[in-house]
Amino acid sequence: MKEKVQMQRRYFHTNETKELSFRMNMLKKLKKALLDYENELLAALKEDLNKSTSEAFLTELGPLYHEITFMLKHLPTWMKRKKVKTPLTHVGSKGYIHYEPYGVVLIIAPWNYPLQLAINPLIGAIAAGNCAIVKPSELTPATSGVITKMIENTFPEEYVCSVEGGVETSQALLAEKMDYIFFTGSVGVGKHVMKAASRHLTPVTLELGGKSPAIVCEDAQIAVTAKRIAWGKFLNAGQTCVAPDYVLVHDSKKEDFLKALQTEIKTLFQRKIDRGDYPTIVSDRHFARLIRFLQDGDVVIGGQHERNKRFIAPTVLTNVSWESPVMEDEIFGPILPVFSFSELDEVIEKVRERPHPLALYLFTESKETEEKLIHSLSFGGGCINDTVMHLATPYLPFGGVGESGMGAYHGEESFYTFSHRKSVLKQPTSVDLPIRYKESKLSLKML
Ligand code: NAD
Repeated sequence: MKEKVQMQRRYFHTNETKELSFRMNMLKKLKKALLDYENELLAALKEDLNKSTSEAFLTELGPLYHEITFMLKHLPTWMKRKKVKTPLTHVGSKGYIHYEPYGVVLIIAPWNYPLQLAINPLIGAIAAGNCAIVKPSELTPATSGVITKMIENTFPEEYVCSVEGGVETSQALLAEKMDYIFFTGSVGVGKHVMKAASRHLTPVTLELGGKSPAIVCEDAQIAVTAKRIAWGKFLNAGQTCVAPDYVLVHDSKKEDFLKALQTEIKTLFQRKIDRGDYPTIVSDRHFARLIRFLQDGDVVIGGQHERNKRFIAPTVLTNVSWESPVMEDEIFGPILPVFSFSELDEVIEKVRERPHPLALYLFTESKETEEKLIHSLSFGGGCINDTVMHLATPYLPFGGVGESGMGAYHGEESFYTFSHRKSVLKQPTSVDLPIRYKESKLSLKML
């Protein structure tokens, strides 16, 4: 690991990776590589998680093509030095911000979107002019294998490389001095990553998880609400960091909502299930954990499961206790507890009792309700009258807050995440105001 990092740092110091033309060429190369390996990647995603071609394209490959295209379009503008004003005390001088790459970036990825979450941060790292080491997930070996092969055949090792392996590999990489660490994964491992980073004071972005609520108000449009919640929750068999974890629906709409949910689940997923195209649970351990949650309430929709295929049907639970195991940690599977409420303040209280969620989804037609929730609750990001879609636009930074993470990326935010903003003040030597050299009670800021 040490050698890999040293090799990349030596290469970084040649300054080659910092040129705009270099960055643009590398982004184009990455796009071409994704196109060349598209079939292999799709086959690997099918093998690891039983993702259908359409789902894999929608949630893994498609967003990567979009992100690269967006970067190529805007990078020349973002990279420009930003001139800033100077105060009167600095008369004659000029100030500017120079966006500087950090150096060697370590990207640690999870298994749930094993391609997208390894390559999307890499796009940002390349755009900002860094070298990068990618550590894909060991739980999706087929996809991680293709990622490694694709990277090896596209980039020289001293610029970008992929290192496969599990916890020990990740820890060995974290023991080295990196210049930036971008981690996507669980809250628990995020803490280890931050601790390891603190040894070298390496800056980190932590993209973590949490229990993201969907709140359905009295005035919500029930049919479209149920459709969007069903889609966001059961996509990738619920193994999505921003999936609605549980629903809070107004008492008066609970019955209608459950009915509509049943219809939408059938329309959106039944054909996929019948064709054997519905994503599977990633491992036996994850399957066993999820199956235990079925005892935590009344199964009103779904509940069917097959251990040998690691298949769990989209499932909805009611009569769930807030203290039951299913409500302890992020569910991360196709099981959706539905609660009801009578006053919005109850909802605010319930959500505040828990760690800050990565996402929050509010379904209402009322601007007043929207404003109240936006001002009252802290969460990474979210949608009004939709789920998940906020992370599909490059114009919105994507990240958590509090326990759901720190830092953000996507689009312009990725460029800033992987760049240090270096402040430079340039003074002329011909003018030398005497005031700062004199003993005086006058603060320079007062001038
Ligand atoms: P994980 O934390 O178990 O593993 C993530 C990565 O960390 C893997 O590459 C793994 O090899 C490595 N790792 C595991 N243990 C480690 C240790 N002790 N030290 C160093 N590295 C270690 O996460 P996961 O199970 O792969 O993914 C699921 C989690 O990721 C969920 O909590 C989910 O919410 C979260 N997630 C967050 C986002 C986001 O964008 N915020 C996206 C996807 C997933």
